[in-house]
Amino acid sequence: MKIDSAEIRYVELPLISPWRTAYGEDASIHSVMVKLSGEGAEAWGEAAPFYAPTYSPESARSVYETAREFFLPRIVGHTLDTAEEVVERLSIFKGNPFSKAAVETAWWALDSRLNGVPLWRALGADKPVVRCGADFGVQDTIDVLLALIQGAVDAGFPRIKLKVKHGWDIEMLDAVRSAFPGPVIHVDCNSGYDLEADIDTLVGFDRFNLAMIEQPLDHTDLIDHAELQRRIGTPVCLDESVTRPRDFEMALKIDACRVINVKPGRVGGLYNAVRIHDMARDAGMPAWVGGMLESGVGAGICAALGTLPGFTYPADVFPSSKFYAEDITDRWVEQDENCDVVLDETPGVGFDPVQERLEGVTTMREVIE
Ligand SMILES: [Mg+2]
Repeated sequence: MKIDSAEIRYVELPLISPWRTAYGEDASIHSVMVKLSGEGAEAWGEAAPFYAPTYSPESARSVYETAREFFLPRIVGHTLDTAEEVVERLSIFKGNPFSKAAVETAWWALDSRLNGVPLWRALGADKPVVRCGADFGVQDTIDVLLALIQGAVDAGFPRIKLKVKHGWDIEMLDAVRSAFPGPVIHVDCNSGYDLEADIDTLVGFDRFNLAMIEQPLDHTDLIDHAELQRRIGTPVCLDESVTRPRDFEMALKIDACRVINVKPGRVGGLYNAVRIHDMARDAGMPAWVGGMLESGVGAGICAALGTLPGFTYPADVFPSSKFYAEDITDRWVEQDENCDVVLDETPGVGFDPVQERLEGVTTMREVIE
């Protein structure tokens, strides 16, 4: 497949309510959309690293600039028949996985569209169903959170994820587990804790019967995660720390986690995401698909990935209506009555930006030919 041209857009899409984590508060998503054109067709990919470099060293603006200045010129005008060739062409650049994913996911979108297959089939899945969990950020009060959890339990979500941070951890979990002893619950620390300074809290999580503790320590602290895993019974899940298959290989070597979260953006795209999925499956380790705050395009890409059979723990793939008054895509991501996202046979991602909506949220745009 020869790539004739690319278009890159920086988009800002307002959220219904701010998203609060250990990193702070976001009132809108800042996302980078890439369109690749070739062989008479075009298709969109997306990477959404957040506005500021808090979740990872990349910001939406750095992704826009890096993809525009360095990555797309290495792709446009070239014939790239496999995702591996795309990854290979970008491999001279270090790091910047979100910038790579913005480009690489667009390649998958275009390739699957041209082949007339849905992305989930192109990735190797044979069933278009993604089990999805509920996910709650830090709330104003514990009562607000308890009401939200009640809603998730009533709706039948198979698991609940709670963001934790200093001041919103042990006491909050005490209240949650008193009210809801049964549901599958895990916590996401977003790198907010320190092995030495917070060891009492980290060990304290053990008594809440959590499915896992996600990314408790700093993103570079692989060795400390292994040390923590030796000291607690709750499985450690890595998120921020694994930015490519090589990181996961290292984590497996030193037993730094017992569960792995996979996000296409964080690991440099779908090719690497599938590799990590395969490595986890071969290691007998549970894996699941996480999400950033993406538009329907990025959420559709995460959903397609989530159909792979090794993703055994429910995904963070959310209905568009949870976050946006109006998503930018022609179809919105929806969950059925079982809380599953069910994809169909539409070739490609199956969620395309509506041009008029896209124009309305674009703040920067450039074409690379
Ligand atoms: Mg996480």
